[in-house]
Amino acid sequence: METATSNDYILNSTLEIKPTPITVAYGDGIGPDLMRATLRILDAAGARIAVNEIEIGEKVYLKGFSSGIAPEAWESLRKTKVFLKSPITTPQGGGFKSLNVTIRKTLGLFANVRPCITYYPYVHSNHPEMDVVIIRENEEDLYAGIEHRQTDEVYQCLKLVSRPGCERIVRYAFEYARAYKRKKVTCMTKDNIMKFTDGLFHKVFDEIGAEYPEIEKEHWIIDIGMAKAATRPEVFDVIVTPNLYGDILSDVTAEIAGSVGLAPSANIGEHCAMFEAIHGSAPDIAGKDIANPSSLILAAVMMLVHIGQSEIAMKIHNAWLKTIEDGVHTADIFTLDQSTSKVGTQFFADAVIQRLGLIPTRLKPIHYGTPPDLTAALARPVRRSFEKKELVGMDVFVHWNGNTEQLADKLQASSVPGLKLVMITNRGVKVWPQGLSETFCTDHWRCRFMGDSAPVPHSTLISLLQNLSTAEIDFIKTENLCTFNGVPGYSLGQGQ
Ligand code: NAD
Repeated sequence: METATSNDYILNSTLEIKPTPITVAYGDGIGPDLMRATLRILDAAGARIAVNEIEIGEKVYLKGFSSGIAPEAWESLRKTKVFLKSPITTPQGGGFKSLNVTIRKTLGLFANVRPCITYYPYVHSNHPEMDVVIIRENEEDLYAGIEHRQTDEVYQCLKLVSRPGCERIVRYAFEYARAYKRKKVTCMTKDNIMKFTDGLFHKVFDEIGAEYPEIEKEHWIIDIGMAKAATRPEVFDVIVTPNLYGDILSDVTAEIAGSVGLAPSANIGEHCAMFEAIHGSAPDIAGKDIANPSSLILAAVMMLVHIGQSEIAMKIHNAWLKTIEDGVHTADIFTLDQSTSKVGTQFFADAVIQRLGLIPTRLKPIHYGTPPDLTAALARPVRRSFEKKELVGMDVFVHWNGNTEQLADKLQASSVPGLKLVMITNRGVKVWPQGLSETFCTDHWRCRFMGDSAPVPHSTLISLLQNLSTAEIDFIKTENLCTFNGVPGYSLGQGQ
């Protein structure tokens, strides 16, 4: 390694190829050990990279940066556009935001790509044929981070899903499948319940999927889909799914493949990309030199393909496979029948380095040709023309400790000409008119007012809120009810 400053150095500076600048963070817990092991392998394999090191994680949080990253680190990320990141520790307690979520959203890393493959029989798994890639939407859904406490008893988290967001991730999944010659893309949502948000994701999947006739397509409801992935993962190929489901699903599939310590992930955006292990900083084994560095090594392999150093990626990946099939295993994947030695983090890295140039004889060797062109997958979705939007009513959410009839009477007495109270629900269940006495009610009520005719002027809604305020009704939030080209843009029912 040639050192320019303590934070900058070039791997393989004697080679004539221009080095690709990358940003590196050593992270917390087992992070520094994994990164040292990984960079030693990259160096030995001849990766040509110019490293700019930044500090992120626990120490930065405790310095007072609520997202765990200092302003100057963003400069490095914006300059290099490629980030190799070790896991970090998020300090306990309130006030700390997830660094990963912040980086993904700030840099627009919309696609989270997580390959989960078994290395049977060398790594124990009940699923010898498993080879699935989870493509998780990375920016939206419940991860918008918009949460509120609204009443004594009720808290909410907003699930935001956009059409451009769905289009981008679904197209990425199909382009990925095409580029890597995968046969099937499975979409998983819960659109039988969340008909607008997950319904949009499924609809966009059907629309965009039609442009890829050579690829088989299917949709599973996430609960049974995830159960199937946990028991018969070999029936899946590429899975595309919204953020939260993808987060859980990819940990499940990584674990049943053998260990979370084997699973890498790439976070891809239009301008930047971040490569990391899927697991955390494992404080329980930090400093013991026993963590499996494979997830970060394989993340670095994905990074090398991304920056066009496929030859080096292939060399490292095949050496890693050879190490695994030779039975040189860290504690998390060690078994008496398949392992030949139980090794620590750095010894494992040495074993990979010793095998650079070799290919596995029993596991399938890897071949990375010309990097696949995923430009179409990264293009910005085309904005659609606006639909005719009409305001037809308003849901008023109210903090109320009395009973349903008293609330309905008070609301009706406060109404304004042109608006009528039509329904009250509690946690999504209709309680007025004609509710059931068996329904348990909290202190959080949704009160639906509909206009006599459309469109309802905003001023009418403001008058209603003015009256509610005068009647000392504690409204905590309102939601406008609109139609789009005549189609209601709000759920009609009373929850399922
Ligand atoms: P974790 O993934 O760190 O650990 C879960 C279990 O898996 C532990 O028993 C651990 O020992 C084991 N494990 C993880 N990686 C391993 C490896 N490479 N080799 C062998 N065993 C391994 O999850 P956690 O304990 O819930 O979280 C610890 C910290 O990590 C928390 O502060 C959390 O916020 C953070 N975290 C960070 C990231 C990230 O930086 N991307 C992701 C998840 C969690």
